[in-house]
Amino acid sequence: MRTLLITGGAGFIGSNFVHYMLANTGYRLINLDKLTYAGNLDSLAAVLEHPRHIFVKGSIEDRALISQLLEEYSPDGVVHLAAESHVDRSIDGPRDFIQTNIMGTFELLECIRRYWEQRDAGWKAAFRFVHISTDEVYGSLGPEGYFTEETKYAPNSPYSASKAASDHLVRAYSHTFGLPVLTTNCSNNYGPYQFPEKLIPLMICTALEDKPLPVYGDGANIRDWLFVSDHCSAILTVLEKGKPGEVYNIGGQNEKNNLQVVQGICDLLDDMQPRKQGGSYRELITFVKDRPGHDRRYAIDAAKIRVELGWTPQASFATGLSKTVAWYLANQMWCESIRTGSYRSGWQELIDRR
Ligand code: NAD
Repeated sequence: MRTLLITGGAGFIGSNFVHYMLANTGYRLINLDKLTYAGNLDSLAAVLEHPRHIFVKGSIEDRALISQLLEEYSPDGVVHLAAESHVDRSIDGPRDFIQTNIMGTFELLECIRRYWEQRDAGWKAAFRFVHISTDEVYGSLGPEGYFTEETKYAPNSPYSASKAASDHLVRAYSHTFGLPVLTTNCSNNYGPYQFPEKLIPLMICTALEDKPLPVYGDGANIRDWLFVSDHCSAILTVLEKGKPGEVYNIGGQNEKNNLQVVQGICDLLDDMQPRKQGGSYRELITFVKDRPGHDRRYAIDAAKIRVELGWTPQASFATGLSKTVAWYLANQMWCESIRTGSYRSGWQELIDRR
Protein backbone atom coordinates (compact mmCIF):
# COMPACT_ATOMS: atom_id res chain seq x y z
CA MET A 1 0.00 0.00 0.00
CA ARG A 2 1.39 3.41 -0.99
CA THR A 3 1.39 6.12 1.67
CA LEU A 4 1.04 9.88 1.24
CA LEU A 5 1.75 12.62 3.75
CA ILE A 6 -0.81 15.39 3.23
CA THR A 7 -0.36 18.76 4.92
CA GLY A 8 -3.39 20.97 5.52
CA GLY A 9 -5.82 18.11 4.99
CA ALA A 10 -8.46 19.59 7.30
CA GLY A 11 -8.82 22.74 5.19
CA PHE A 12 -11.08 23.30 2.20
CA ILE A 13 -9.07 21.70 -0.62
CA GLY A 14 -7.27 19.33 1.76
CA SER A 15 -10.46 17.77 3.15
CA ASN A 16 -11.88 17.41 -0.36
CA PHE A 17 -8.59 15.80 -1.42
CA VAL A 18 -8.73 13.33 1.48
CA HIS A 19 -12.30 12.33 0.55
CA TYR A 20 -11.33 12.09 -3.12
CA MET A 21 -8.24 9.94 -2.49
CA LEU A 22 -10.00 7.55 -0.11
CA ALA A 23 -12.86 7.08 -2.58
CA ASN A 24 -10.78 6.77 -5.75
CA THR A 25 -7.40 5.28 -4.79
CA GLY A 26 -5.85 2.77 -2.40
CA TYR A 27 -3.38 5.22 -0.80
CA ARG A 28 -2.97 5.39 2.96
CA LEU A 29 -3.11 9.06 4.01
CA ILE A 30 -1.24 10.67 6.89
CA ASN A 31 -3.01 13.98 7.35
CA LEU A 32 -0.97 16.61 9.21
CA ASP A 33 -2.91 19.77 10.05
CA LYS A 34 -2.41 22.43 12.71
CA LEU A 35 -6.17 23.09 12.92
CA THR A 36 -5.98 26.85 12.64
CA TYR A 37 -9.33 28.66 12.32
CA ALA A 38 -9.43 27.28 8.72
CA GLY A 39 -8.96 23.63 9.72
CA ASN A 40 -12.20 21.84 10.46
CA LEU A 41 -12.43 18.19 11.47
CA ASP A 42 -16.20 18.29 10.87
CA SER A 43 -15.27 18.31 7.16
CA LEU A 44 -13.63 14.90 7.67
CA ALA A 45 -16.22 13.46 10.06
CA ALA A 46 -17.17 10.59 7.73
CA VAL A 47 -13.54 9.46 7.28
CA LEU A 48 -11.88 10.19 10.62
CA GLU A 49 -12.03 6.50 11.57
CA HIS A 50 -11.25 5.26 8.03
CA PRO A 51 -8.51 2.57 8.19
CA ARG A 52 -6.47 4.35 5.50
CA HIS A 53 -6.70 7.83 7.05
CA ILE A 54 -4.56 8.87 10.02
CA PHE A 55 -5.13 12.39 11.30
CA VAL A 56 -2.32 14.09 13.21
CA LYS A 57 -2.73 17.53 14.75
CA GLY A 58 0.52 19.44 14.29
CA SER A 59 2.41 22.08 12.37
CA ILE A 60 4.59 21.93 9.28
CA GLU A 61 7.01 24.03 11.31
CA ASP A 62 7.50 21.23 13.84
CA ARG A 63 10.61 19.44 12.57
CA ALA A 64 10.62 16.83 15.33
CA LEU A 65 7.04 15.80 14.58
CA ILE A 66 7.59 15.67 10.82
CA SER A 67 10.76 13.61 11.22
CA GLN A 68 8.85 11.23 13.50
CA LEU A 69 6.05 10.89 10.92
CA LEU A 70 8.56 10.24 8.13
CA GLU A 71 10.31 7.51 10.15
CA GLU A 72 7.05 5.94 11.30
CA TYR A 73 5.12 5.89 8.01
CA SER A 74 7.81 6.21 5.33
CA PRO A 75 5.52 8.00 2.88
CA ASP A 76 6.03 7.56 -0.86
CA GLY A 77 5.01 11.16 -1.46
CA VAL A 78 3.95 14.46 0.07
CA VAL A 79 1.11 16.72 -1.03
CA HIS A 80 1.72 20.10 0.59
CA LEU A 81 -1.47 22.13 0.98
CA ALA A 82 -1.02 23.68 4.44
CA ALA A 83 -1.05 27.46 4.25
CA GLU A 84 -2.68 30.66 5.35
CA SER A 85 -4.92 31.24 2.36
CA HIS A 86 -7.22 34.25 2.69
CA VAL A 87 -6.09 37.43 0.87
CA ASP A 88 -8.11 39.82 3.07
CA ARG A 89 -6.54 38.38 6.23
CA SER A 90 -3.08 38.79 4.65
CA ILE A 91 -3.81 42.50 4.20
CA ASP A 92 -5.03 42.89 7.79
CA GLY A 93 -2.13 40.88 9.26
CA PRO A 94 0.61 39.50 6.97
CA ARG A 95 2.80 37.95 9.68
CA ASP A 96 1.05 34.56 9.88
CA PHE A 97 1.31 34.29 6.09
CA ILE A 98 5.06 34.85 6.12
CA GLN A 99 5.47 32.45 9.03
CA THR A 100 3.34 29.59 7.70
CA ASN A 101 3.70 29.87 3.95
CA ILE A 102 7.40 30.70 3.83
CA MET A 103 8.96 29.45 7.08
CA GLY A 104 6.57 26.49 7.31
CA THR A 105 7.33 25.38 3.77
CA PHE A 106 11.05 25.80 4.47
CA GLU A 107 10.91 23.65 7.64
CA LEU A 108 8.91 20.97 5.83
CA LEU A 109 11.31 20.94 2.87
CA GLU A 110 14.33 20.67 5.17
CA CYS A 111 12.87 17.66 7.00
CA ILE A 112 11.91 15.94 3.78
CA ARG A 113 15.26 16.64 2.15
CA ARG A 114 17.21 15.17 5.08
CA TYR A 115 15.02 12.10 5.17
CA TRP A 116 15.09 11.70 1.36
CA GLU A 117 18.89 11.88 1.27
CA GLN A 118 19.19 8.94 3.70
CA ARG A 119 17.07 6.62 1.58
CA ASP A 120 18.15 4.19 -1.15
CA ALA A 121 18.11 5.03 -4.85
CA GLY A 122 15.00 2.96 -5.66
CA TRP A 123 12.88 4.66 -3.01
CA LYS A 124 14.26 8.08 -3.95
CA ALA A 125 13.37 7.59 -7.60
CA ALA A 126 9.73 6.88 -6.78
CA PHE A 127 9.28 9.66 -4.18
CA ARG A 128 7.37 12.86 -5.11
CA PHE A 129 6.74 16.17 -3.32
CA VAL A 130 3.76 18.04 -4.79
CA HIS A 131 3.58 21.70 -3.77
CA ILE A 132 0.12 23.23 -4.13
CA SER A 133 0.20 26.88 -5.12
CA THR A 134 -1.96 29.54 -6.70
CA ASP A 135 -2.30 31.50 -9.93
CA GLU A 136 -2.17 34.66 -7.80
CA VAL A 137 1.65 34.49 -7.89
CA TYR A 138 1.46 35.76 -11.49
CA GLY A 139 -0.25 39.04 -10.55
CA SER A 140 -3.08 40.62 -12.52
CA LEU A 141 -4.02 40.30 -16.21
CA GLY A 142 -5.58 42.86 -18.53
CA PRO A 143 -8.66 41.93 -20.55
CA GLU A 144 -6.64 39.64 -22.86
CA GLY A 145 -4.21 36.75 -22.35
CA TYR A 146 -3.63 33.90 -19.93
CA PHE A 147 -1.13 32.83 -17.27
CA THR A 148 1.19 30.11 -18.56
CA GLU A 149 3.94 28.28 -16.66
CA GLU A 150 6.38 30.81 -18.19
CA THR A 151 4.55 33.93 -16.96
CA LYS A 152 6.79 36.16 -14.84
CA TYR A 153 5.95 36.17 -11.13
CA ALA A 154 4.38 39.46 -9.97
CA PRO A 155 2.53 38.78 -6.71
CA ASN A 156 0.49 41.74 -5.49
CA SER A 157 -0.84 40.77 -2.02
CA PRO A 158 1.03 39.55 1.06
CA TYR A 159 -0.74 36.19 0.51
CA SER A 160 0.43 35.80 -3.08
CA ALA A 161 3.92 37.09 -2.21
CA SER A 162 4.25 34.47 0.53
CA LYS A 163 3.05 31.74 -1.84
CA ALA A 164 5.48 32.99 -4.52
CA ALA A 165 8.31 32.76 -1.99
CA SER A 166 7.30 29.19 -1.15
CA ASP A 167 7.24 28.31 -4.87
CA HIS A 168 10.79 29.65 -5.20
CA LEU A 169 11.95 27.64 -2.18
CA VAL A 170 10.46 24.47 -3.60
CA ARG A 171 12.09 25.16 -6.96
CA ALA A 172 15.46 25.74 -5.26
CA TYR A 173 15.20 22.40 -3.39
CA SER A 174 14.67 20.68 -6.73
CA HIS A 175 17.46 22.54 -8.50
CA THR A 176 20.05 22.48 -5.71
CA PHE A 177 19.35 19.22 -3.87
CA GLY A 178 17.59 17.19 -6.57
CA LEU A 179 14.45 16.74 -4.44
CA PRO A 180 11.74 15.49 -6.83
CA VAL A 181 9.26 18.34 -6.45
CA LEU A 182 6.38 19.36 -8.66
CA THR A 183 4.50 22.64 -8.29
CA THR A 184 0.89 23.29 -9.27
CA ASN A 185 -0.51 26.80 -9.69
CA CYS A 186 -4.27 26.61 -9.63
CA SER A 187 -7.06 29.11 -10.18
CA ASN A 188 -9.87 29.86 -7.68
CA ASN A 189 -11.52 26.73 -6.27
CA TYR A 190 -15.08 26.39 -5.05
CA GLY A 191 -17.20 23.55 -3.69
CA PRO A 192 -18.19 21.85 -0.42
CA TYR A 193 -16.35 22.52 2.88
CA GLN A 194 -15.02 25.97 1.91
CA PHE A 195 -14.72 28.30 4.91
CA PRO A 196 -17.48 30.93 4.68
CA GLU A 197 -15.07 33.86 4.46
CA LYS A 198 -14.39 33.10 0.77
CA LEU A 199 -16.63 34.62 -1.91
CA ILE A 200 -18.97 31.76 -2.83
CA PRO A 201 -19.76 30.28 0.62
CA LEU A 202 -19.83 33.79 2.13
CA MET A 203 -22.54 34.81 -0.33
CA ILE A 204 -24.56 31.60 0.17
CA CYS A 205 -24.44 31.76 3.97
CA THR A 206 -25.11 35.53 4.08
CA ALA A 207 -28.04 35.25 1.65
CA LEU A 208 -29.58 32.51 3.79
CA GLU A 209 -29.48 34.96 6.73
CA ASP A 210 -31.17 37.51 4.40
CA LYS A 211 -28.36 40.01 5.00
CA PRO A 212 -26.72 42.35 2.42
CA LEU A 213 -24.35 40.57 0.00
CA PRO A 214 -21.13 42.65 -0.07
CA VAL A 215 -19.52 42.80 -3.54
CA TYR A 216 -16.13 44.54 -3.78
CA GLY A 217 -15.82 47.65 -6.02
CA ASP A 218 -17.76 47.40 -9.27
CA GLY A 219 -17.97 43.58 -9.11
CA ALA A 220 -16.04 43.31 -12.38
CA ASN A 221 -12.94 41.50 -11.04
CA ILE A 222 -12.58 38.26 -12.99
CA ARG A 223 -11.51 34.88 -11.61
CA ASP A 224 -11.16 31.51 -13.40
CA TRP A 225 -13.24 29.11 -11.28
CA LEU A 226 -12.50 25.40 -10.82
CA PHE A 227 -14.73 22.93 -8.99
CA VAL A 228 -12.66 21.49 -6.15
CA SER A 229 -12.99 17.82 -7.17
CA ASP A 230 -11.41 18.75 -10.52
CA HIS A 231 -8.48 20.27 -8.60
CA CYS A 232 -8.21 17.02 -6.60
CA SER A 233 -8.07 14.92 -9.79
CA ALA A 234 -5.42 17.30 -11.16
CA ILE A 235 -3.27 16.91 -8.03
CA LEU A 236 -3.49 13.11 -8.28
CA THR A 237 -2.58 13.33 -11.98
CA VAL A 238 0.48 15.47 -11.23
CA LEU A 239 1.51 13.18 -8.35
CA GLU A 240 1.36 10.05 -10.50
CA LYS A 241 2.23 11.29 -14.00
CA GLY A 242 4.00 14.63 -13.58
CA LYS A 243 7.69 15.16 -14.22
CA PRO A 244 9.79 16.17 -11.19
CA GLY A 245 11.04 19.73 -11.42
CA GLU A 246 8.08 20.82 -13.55
CA VAL A 247 5.32 23.34 -12.89
CA TYR A 248 1.71 22.71 -13.95
CA ASN A 249 -0.97 25.39 -14.20
CA ILE A 250 -4.48 24.15 -13.35
CA GLY A 251 -7.66 25.95 -14.36
CA GLY A 252 -11.18 25.34 -15.51
CA GLN A 253 -11.56 27.91 -18.32
CA ASN A 254 -14.52 29.28 -16.40
CA GLU A 255 -13.90 33.02 -16.30
CA LYS A 256 -16.59 34.87 -14.38
CA ASN A 257 -16.63 38.25 -12.73
CA ASN A 258 -17.61 38.50 -9.08
CA LEU A 259 -20.99 40.05 -9.82
CA GLN A 260 -21.87 37.23 -12.24
CA VAL A 261 -20.91 34.68 -9.56
CA VAL A 262 -23.04 36.36 -6.90
CA GLN A 263 -25.99 36.75 -9.27
CA GLY A 264 -25.67 33.06 -10.21
CA ILE A 265 -25.82 32.09 -6.51
CA CYS A 266 -28.89 34.30 -6.00
CA ASP A 267 -30.68 32.73 -8.95
CA LEU A 268 -29.94 29.18 -7.71
CA LEU A 269 -31.14 30.08 -4.20
CA ASP A 270 -34.29 31.65 -5.66
CA ASP A 271 -35.06 28.22 -7.18
CA MET A 272 -33.87 25.98 -4.33
CA GLN A 273 -34.85 27.99 -1.25
CA PRO A 274 -37.00 31.06 -2.11
CA ARG A 275 -36.80 34.03 0.29
CA LYS A 276 -39.43 33.85 3.01
CA GLN A 277 -40.38 37.51 2.49
CA GLY A 278 -40.58 37.11 -1.32
CA GLY A 279 -38.47 38.81 -4.01
CA SER A 280 -35.09 37.72 -5.33
CA TYR A 281 -31.88 37.31 -3.35
CA ARG A 282 -30.39 39.63 -6.00
CA GLU A 283 -32.03 42.50 -4.12
CA LEU A 284 -29.51 41.89 -1.30
CA ILE A 285 -26.47 42.66 -3.53
CA THR A 286 -24.58 45.70 -2.16
CA PHE A 287 -21.39 47.19 -3.61
CA VAL A 288 -18.74 47.94 -0.97
CA LYS A 289 -15.31 49.67 -0.92
CA ASP A 290 -12.84 47.67 -3.01
CA ARG A 291 -10.08 45.50 -1.52
CA PRO A 292 -6.73 47.42 -1.61
CA GLY A 293 -4.59 46.29 -4.54
CA HIS A 294 -7.40 44.07 -5.82
CA ASP A 295 -6.13 42.12 -8.86
CA ARG A 296 -8.42 42.70 -11.84
CA ARG A 297 -8.31 39.44 -13.75
CA TYR A 298 -6.82 35.95 -13.41
CA ALA A 299 -7.07 33.38 -16.20
CA ILE A 300 -5.15 30.14 -16.58
CA ASP A 301 -3.82 28.45 -19.69
CA ALA A 302 -3.95 24.80 -18.58
CA ALA A 303 -2.74 23.37 -21.92
CA LYS A 304 0.38 21.78 -20.39
CA ILE A 305 -1.41 19.55 -17.87
CA ARG A 306 -4.11 18.74 -20.43
CA VAL A 307 -1.74 17.82 -23.27
CA GLU A 308 1.21 16.30 -21.37
CA LEU A 309 -0.65 14.54 -18.55
CA GLY A 310 -4.12 14.03 -20.10
CA TRP A 311 -6.05 15.83 -17.32
CA THR A 312 -9.41 17.40 -18.08
CA PRO A 313 -11.85 19.06 -15.67
CA GLN A 314 -15.30 17.50 -15.50
CA ALA A 315 -17.59 20.13 -14.00
CA SER A 316 -18.95 23.11 -15.92
CA PHE A 317 -19.36 26.24 -13.79
CA ALA A 318 -23.17 25.90 -13.90
CA THR A 319 -23.06 22.31 -12.63
CA GLY A 320 -20.39 23.01 -10.01
CA LEU A 321 -22.14 26.09 -8.66
CA SER A 322 -25.47 24.28 -8.47
CA LYS A 323 -23.83 21.37 -6.58
CA THR A 324 -22.14 23.83 -4.23
CA VAL A 325 -25.31 25.76 -3.39
CA ALA A 326 -27.15 22.45 -2.87
CA TRP A 327 -24.35 21.25 -0.54
CA TYR A 328 -24.49 24.37 1.63
CA LEU A 329 -28.29 24.13 1.82
CA ALA A 330 -28.05 20.50 2.92
CA ASN A 331 -25.24 21.20 5.41
CA GLN A 332 -26.36 24.31 7.25
CA MET A 333 -25.18 22.80 10.55
CA TRP A 334 -21.63 22.77 9.17
CA CYS A 335 -21.85 26.56 8.64
CA GLU A 336 -23.68 27.08 11.91
CA SER A 337 -20.90 25.42 13.91
CA ILE A 338 -18.42 27.81 12.26
CA ARG A 339 -20.66 30.77 13.04
CA THR A 340 -20.84 29.79 16.72
CA GLY A 341 -17.21 28.63 16.88
CA SER A 342 -18.20 25.18 18.18
CA TYR A 343 -16.33 23.45 15.31
CA ARG A 344 -13.07 24.26 17.11
CA SER A 345 -13.80 22.31 20.25
CA GLY A 346 -14.94 18.95 18.88
CA TRP A 347 -13.02 15.73 18.20
CA GLN A 348 -10.58 16.18 21.13
CA GLU A 349 -10.63 12.50 22.02
CA LEU A 350 -9.65 11.55 18.48
CA ILE A 351 -6.88 14.20 18.39
CA ASP A 352 -5.50 12.98 21.74
CA ARG A 353 -5.46 9.36 20.60
CA ARG A 354 -2.24 10.00 18.64
P1 NAD B 1 -7.58 26.59 3.79
O1 NAD B 1 -7.25 27.89 4.43
O2 NAD B 1 -9.01 26.20 3.68
O3 NAD B 1 -6.83 25.39 4.55
C1 NAD B 1 -5.50 25.50 4.99
C2 NAD B 1 -5.26 24.38 5.98
O4 NAD B 1 -3.88 24.44 6.38
C3 NAD B 1 -6.11 24.47 7.25
O5 NAD B 1 -6.68 23.22 7.54
C4 NAD B 1 -5.11 24.88 8.32
O6 NAD B 1 -5.44 24.38 9.61
C5 NAD B 1 -3.84 24.25 7.77
N1 NAD B 1 -2.62 24.88 8.31
C6 NAD B 1 -2.35 26.21 8.40
N2 NAD B 1 -1.14 26.39 8.95
C7 NAD B 1 -0.62 25.17 9.17
C8 NAD B 1 0.61 24.69 9.71
N3 NAD B 1 1.57 25.54 10.13
N4 NAD B 1 0.81 23.36 9.80
C9 NAD B 1 -0.14 22.49 9.38
N5 NAD B 1 -1.34 22.87 8.89
C10 NAD B 1 -1.56 24.20 8.78
O7 NAD B 1 -6.90 26.65 2.35
P2 NAD B 1 -7.36 25.98 0.99
O8 NAD B 1 -8.25 26.92 0.28
O9 NAD B 1 -7.78 24.59 1.22
O10 NAD B 1 -5.97 25.98 0.20
C11 NAD B 1 -5.06 24.90 0.33
C12 NAD B 1 -3.82 25.20 -0.49
O11 NAD B 1 -4.19 25.42 -1.85
C13 NAD B 1 -3.10 26.48 -0.04
O12 NAD B 1 -1.72 26.24 -0.14
C14 NAD B 1 -3.53 27.52 -1.05
O13 NAD B 1 -2.54 28.52 -1.22
C15 NAD B 1 -3.70 26.67 -2.29
N6 NAD B 1 -4.69 27.17 -3.27
C16 NAD B 1 -5.96 27.48 -2.88
C17 NAD B 1 -6.88 27.89 -3.85
C18 NAD B 1 -8.30 28.21 -3.48
O14 NAD B 1 -9.05 28.73 -4.32
N7 NAD B 1 -8.75 27.91 -2.28
C19 NAD B 1 -6.48 28.03 -5.19
C20 NAD B 1 -5.16 27.70 -5.54
C21 NAD B 1 -4.27 27.26 -4.58
